[in-house]
Amino acid sequence: MPPAADPSDPSDAPSLLDLDDLRARFRGPLLAPSAPRFDEARKGWNGLVDRRPAAIIRCAGVADVIAAVRLAGQEDVPLAVKSGGHDFAGKSTSEGGLLVDLSDMDGVRVDPEGRTVRVEAGARWRDVDHETQAFGLATTGGTVSSVGVAGYVLGGGTGYLSRKHGLALDNLVSADVVTADGRLVTASADQHSDLFWGLRGAGANLGIVTSFELRLHELSTQILAGQIIHAFEDANDVLRFCAEYLPQAPEALQCYPFLLKLPPLEVIPEAYHGKPALDLVVAFAGTPEEGEGGLHELRGVGDPILDGVFPQPYTAVQQTFDLGMPAGVNWYSRAQYLEDLPDAAMDTLLAHCAQIPGPYSSAYLEPAGGAIGRVDPGATAFPHRTAPFGFHVVGGWSDPAEADEVTAWAETLHAAMVPFSTGGVYVNLLGVGEGEDRVRAAYGANWGRLVKVKRAWDPDNLFRGNQNVPPGG
Ligand SMILES: Cc1cc2nc3c(=O)[nH]c(=O)nc-3n(C[C@H](O)[C@H](O)[C@H](O)COP(=O)(O)OP(=O)(O)OC[C@H]3O[C@@H](n4cnc5c(N)ncnc54)[C@H](O)[C@@H]3O)c2cc1C
Repeated sequence: MPPAADPSDPSDAPSLLDLDDLRARFRGPLLAPSAPRFDEARKGWNGLVDRRPAAIIRCAGVADVIAAVRLAGQEDVPLAVKSGGHDFAGKSTSEGGLLVDLSDMDGVRVDPEGRTVRVEAGARWRDVDHETQAFGLATTGGTVSSVGVAGYVLGGGTGYLSRKHGLALDNLVSADVVTADGRLVTASADQHSDLFWGLRGAGANLGIVTSFELRLHELSTQILAGQIIHAFEDANDVLRFCAEYLPQAPEALQCYPFLLKLPPLEVIPEAYHGKPALDLVVAFAGTPEEGEGGLHELRGVGDPILDGVFPQPYTAVQQTFDLGMPAGVNWYSRAQYLEDLPDAAMDTLLAHCAQIPGPYSSAYLEPAGGAIGRVDPGATAFPHRTAPFGFHVVGGWSDPAEADEVTAWAETLHAAMVPFSTGGVYVNLLGVGEGEDRVRAAYGANWGRLVKVKRAWDPDNLFRGNQNVPPGG
């Protein structure tokens, strides 16, 4: 038996795999580094992460996932798992080892009567939204349509619908999971309930989910949504209104206050191009008529330079930011939950955002409350139920010369907001270079129970190429 391999150590893994011998075990293609599609398949969304697995199995079905898990367990080959590949920290690829790529398994089947949808692990939110909206239904999904369903649901899942319908993981009815011993089990409230508890927040640690059953809700195919942009000089007053109003606003309303540099778009007055501004990204989960009432108060605040709120297809709303957060750019992410948003926090935020570097960087608040807060913090592995706001700083650059300035800005702003933090972080927003203490902060008081679940389902830590919860605690 070869020694246990470290997934981050390039020297360990490549020689462990004889690909020609292994191909017969799989229905999907097993890609060697010389294969034409290898380079595309090894990359994730974050250009900052550049790793080369020894081989990539593009799974064609559950049997391939089982075969990959058994192979990794028997030969002690490091394993990485990729569904949508949007992990900010790049955990869905590895240096050496076997990358289990689920992106070809992207089937979506809606049960309109039962109001559920069965989603294969490789599907992305644009696939799910397209299928569910054909029936006037939807579930909480990511606000960029290329985000994968799997990583998103298994870590939490927030979006325009989460204040009304809960996190994505609150809408998980059941999941099919290939476990570390190579079995396929179904986890739900009634079957393997400890696994089901852990999957909802720390799923990447407990197995490879091959499909999800998610609860659906009625949602009109046109909703009122868009952006209300305020000049930076007015950001102070508007942000103070948001701090009070948003946590107790109607649950169908979601509004992300974004601080960013305005792009040179025709709809934005030229004098503001390239200038920092406060962009309220809003959506109302109801009919456009209901949205008119629900958004009235927010639209009446201050004197925006643009009120770009209008009825539009929900599927289009879900794609609004696709172009603004492109794959391949280098991304530095730091996040935390805020206890509160006192004046000092807003002053800090605005002082740093006056200096936002480059066209890709931003900082935003994500109001929580509503259905998210009605779930007990111990009911699932995801503990952050009471914080009124999530806070996320994203630094992006494509020119390497900008790397230092952008990272320093993001790091400094993140650190300056720590005094207002709960100390917790959303696991799905952990970025490159974060340590074990931050993974613990993602699970807070649920850590002890999670370690026990990990020990029961993955005692040898086969699934460790992730934000890892070691079975030893
Ligand atoms: C542009 C962008 C927008 C985003 N918007 C939102 C948002 O609106 N709301 C929100 O909550 N989050 C958002 N996120 C964060 C998002 O939730 C995470 O990046 C999430 O991990 C993406 O899922 P994925 O399948 O694409 O990830 P991947 O990179 O494929 O995987 C992420 C992690 O999950 C593991 N994993 C992947 N598939 C499986 C599986 N089938 N079984 C077990 N483990 C698996 C991987 O090993 C890895 O550790 C956004 C991220 C980006 C980059």
